Amino acid sequence: AKKNGRNRFEFFNESLKTGIIRSKRLADDILSGLERQEFLPHFQPQFDARTLDIVGVEALARWEHPTEGLLTPDAFLPTAEELDVVPMIDQIILKQTLWQSTRWKALNLHIPKMSVNVSAGRLYDPNLIDGLDGLAFEPGTLSFELLESIFLDDNNETIVDNIARLKQLGIEIEIDDFGTGFASIVSLIQVRPTTLKIDRCLIQPIVGCESQRRLVASIIDIGQSLGIKVVAEGVETMEHAAILRELGCDTLQGYAFAAPMSSDRLIEFVRRQHWR
Ligand code: C2E
Ligand code: CA
Ligand code: CA
Ligand code: CA
Repeated sequence: AKKNGRNRFEFFNESLKTGIIRSKRLADDILSGLERQEFLPHFQPQFDARTLDIVGVEALARWEHPTEGLLTPDAFLPTAEELDVVPMIDQIILKQTLWQSTRWKALNLHIPKMSVNVSAGRLYDPNLIDGLDGLAFEPGTLSFELLESIFLDDNNETIVDNIARLKQLGIEIEIDDFGTGFASIVSLIQVRPTTLKIDRCLIQPIVGCESQRRLVASIIDIGQSLGIKVVAEGVETMEHAAILRELGCDTLQGYAFAAPMSSDRLIEFVRRQHWR
């Protein structure tokens, strides 16, 4: 029995160790990936609900891993957060997005706006605005997507200050994942965003469920009455799109029209008007 017990202990001990080793290895991988510039944005187009013109693209972080291939944020963001390198990744994605946009412009592609995701850590950073120094963008063509949960901390002066200064620079503010946090309505008054993005968990059930549809209709009404544009995320079918158009939603984003794609593929997509 004694021997058995020891084996069991060793078994647990082993699996614990491999767990640690695995995440230590991921952490090391992320750091060398940052050094080797393996992080890059993919882009998901957003469409005018009525005309189906492209109104912008959302930049989404990807990791070109040397052995694992292209990785999405669920594979690296949690560990990147522990390492405190998410603000660094955000900055890389921003720079690359601006760089790609000069390419699109040179090719005469009309992509009016670029959105990037901005982590909470970055919004708390008093040097956020300095970090934008020397980056070239036209006012009104760049927007920052901020998670709603950030605004629970409305007493934080750095956040309030940073948002005001971003607006002065002509950077639009979007509230991401709207409807999943607790601050929803209050954040609209506090922040006065240009845009709110209704989270896909609210969008997906609208096809089968009348009360879900009314909930989304109310959010769209609130947005309109405050002069805030409304984007629906996770629009997966044309049925979703038709309902949202009917409800007066401004902008549609989701697999029904396009998944996130590389800059090269985006260029083809826009040229050939693949979604029409
Ligand atoms: P998010 O900002 O809410 O981005 C939307 C996510 O939904 C993306 O996942 C996108 O690929 C996915 N998506 C788009 N259309 C559909 C659809 O029709 N159906 C479904 N089921 N999903 C759809 P992704 O690229 O894996 O990103 C996940 C999250 O990681 C993002 O959620 C965002 O919170 C975070 N993230 C991505 N890039 C960055 C970044 O550069 N910086 C920071 N801080 N966070 C990022
Ligand atoms: Ca987003
Ligand atoms: Ca979102
Ligand atoms: Ca999300």
